[in-house]
Amino acid sequence: MKILCIGRNYEDHAKELKNPLPPEPVVFLKPDSALLRNNDPFYIPDFAQSFHYEVEVVVRISRVGKHIEERFAHRYYDQVGLGIDFTARDLQDELRAKGLPWEKCKAFDSSAVISQFVDKNNYPNLQNLRFRLEVNGQVRQNGNTSDMIFSVDRIIEHLSRYFTLKMGDYIFTGTPAGVGPVKVGDRLQGFIEETSFFDFLVK
Ligand code: ZN
Repeated sequence: MKILCIGRNYEDHAKELKNPLPPEPVVFLKPDSALLRNNDPFYIPDFAQSFHYEVEVVVRISRVGKHIEERFAHRYYDQVGLGIDFTARDLQDELRAKGLPWEKCKAFDSSAVISQFVDKNNYPNLQNLRFRLEVNGQVRQNGNTSDMIFSVDRIIEHLSRYFTLKMGDYIFTGTPAGVGPVKVGDRLQGFIEETSFFDFLVK
């Protein structure tokens, strides 16, 4: 199982981090050891100072595919959930400044929070889903998948040129604006429409 992630897929977030809009999806991976699920707490690691939440819609791959065309991509995922792409932001800035890879700041243990998953057919249109993150009961990120620069189907077409997609792989589809640091004691709650998907504590 692998976790494929898309960066800068929402214009408002790309702008808040002063990144240019990408001409094609920005891609990075996380290993299976990054998964954090079942609303387990996130323990803040000690190797950086600033760990940011990024709430993202996540899809689960349901069959093997390579070189998948956009028009057939919907056949390759069956479930949708919500996740947090935890990022060591100060370390990311350092690595980016040196032109180094992102694994240390993006792919560490527990950096890929995932919720329960539900049948994607619960929703009439995956490209028009409202989702949000609340920290301690206050809305910090509020997104709609209609604002993605690259749709889920286009992401799958792009990723599958490089990587064979396999059943059980997860795709994190990018975060909207409002990212910020977590601190010990924070409670993070994620919603798609009005349904709670995750609810966990930072320790
Ligand atoms: Zn992200």
